[in-house]
Amino acid sequence: MNRNRSHDEWQRAQRVLAGGVNSPVRAFGAVGGDPIFFESGDGAIVRDVDGNEYVDYVLSWGPLILGHRHPAVIRALELALTRGTTFGAPTIAETDLAEELIACTPSLEVVRMVSSGTEAAMSAIRLARGFTGRDGIVKFDGCYHGHADALLVAAGSGAATFSIPGSRGVPKRAVEHSHVAPFNDGDAVKKLLREKGDEIAVVAVEPVAGNMGLVPPEPGFLELLRAETERAGTLLLFDEVMTGFRLGLSSAQGRLGVTPDLTALAKVVGGGLPLGAYGGSAAVMKHLAPGGAVYQAGTLSGNPLAVAAGLATVRELRATEPYAAIEKTAGALETGLLAAADRAGVPVRIQREGTMMSLYFREGPVRDYEDAKSADQERFARFHRGMRDRGIYLPPSQFEAYFLSTEHGEAEIERTIEAAAATFADIASGRS
Ligand SMILES: *Cc1c(COP(=O)(O)O)cnc(C)c1O
Repeated sequence: MNRNRSHDEWQRAQRVLAGGVNSPVRAFGAVGGDPIFFESGDGAIVRDVDGNEYVDYVLSWGPLILGHRHPAVIRALELALTRGTTFGAPTIAETDLAEELIACTPSLEVVRMVSSGTEAAMSAIRLARGFTGRDGIVKFDGCYHGHADALLVAAGSGAATFSIPGSRGVPKRAVEHSHVAPFNDGDAVKKLLREKGDEIAVVAVEPVAGNMGLVPPEPGFLELLRAETERAGTLLLFDEVMTGFRLGLSSAQGRLGVTPDLTALAKVVGGGLPLGAYGGSAAVMKHLAPGGAVYQAGTLSGNPLAVAAGLATVRELRATEPYAAIEKTAGALETGLLAAADRAGVPVRIQREGTMMSLYFREGPVRDYEDAKSADQERFARFHRGMRDRGIYLPPSQFEAYFLSTEHGEAEIERTIEAAAATFADIASGRS
């Protein structure tokens, strides 16, 4: 596969963009080779600047559940463009989108819109701290909540521990109230909350983890978090930036039957434009400025283009309820990949929840970040290279989820499984 133009553009980008990219994982550091520069997308297919086509399982890291350039989204954007790109003042569509999000999501009575998932999670944490008058937060090892200082913490191991900053430039003081527990370890959180619950403002969790690869919650884990936070007067925040409107119209919270106090959304609800939202009960949300004392603001928050794309996406999802169909396609992909790996004698583990999944090069269940890290990264890198040379674009890291859309059909799945069979065979024989 000729990717000369991508190669040249990568050299040029590295001179003027930090690390060549505007977000680190795009640089392909974990899988090697030049990043692919894309020119266009259509449905489930993306085309690179050299004219190669790929089945896209990244979908811009999740937002494009309707595929690239869905007609309803394009129409809404075209109409919004004729009216103006931003006013910094209320527009009717913001209220429309808020009503749609609230109608679908069990925990939401009132929302506030922002421009990214990072902002949504960060602001929800501030609100929880302001509401409870407590500073402590609990997060889980391997869960990602964006790059705000207090949430950018590396893990402790074993039981819940105080954490250390996960990045240079994050002051120790900024994470001194951040506790980290292993995902799926409800007992660690229970112990922490029973000991010092009166210091903990919020427990933040991806209800289905997708940033260490796909790791579903074990039965009882979210229920335990719900019960213990309630007991401690601590708020429970579901970071549904990835799972929101992806695991169903009612998101992970509806699917799994556990209702948090606060919810962060982004990705799908922005329809491919920069938009996030966070919300909860009216009683909690009234503490936000201008009504309350917790400050949070944004020049481009509720931007008309982003809201138009988000509203069109959410309305299309509500009108068509495509989840069961996409899940069926995802199930066929899972079955096909497992069979292909088995035939090649390559041990793999696939974890799937609805329309998102991950393939790990290891056996046995992956229940937390420690398990995920024990998967064979070298094999994953070879798998990624083999797949992209065969026209399949997978997330360039073992610790990311694959996403499907309404536009992934039998032809795309067949093509993917064929590519995987050939790539697994190469891996088994040491050819790649
Ligand atoms: C992507 C993601 C974020 C960050 O969202 P951005 O829009 O990249 O800032 C936060 N939380 C979760 C669970 C995510 O998947």
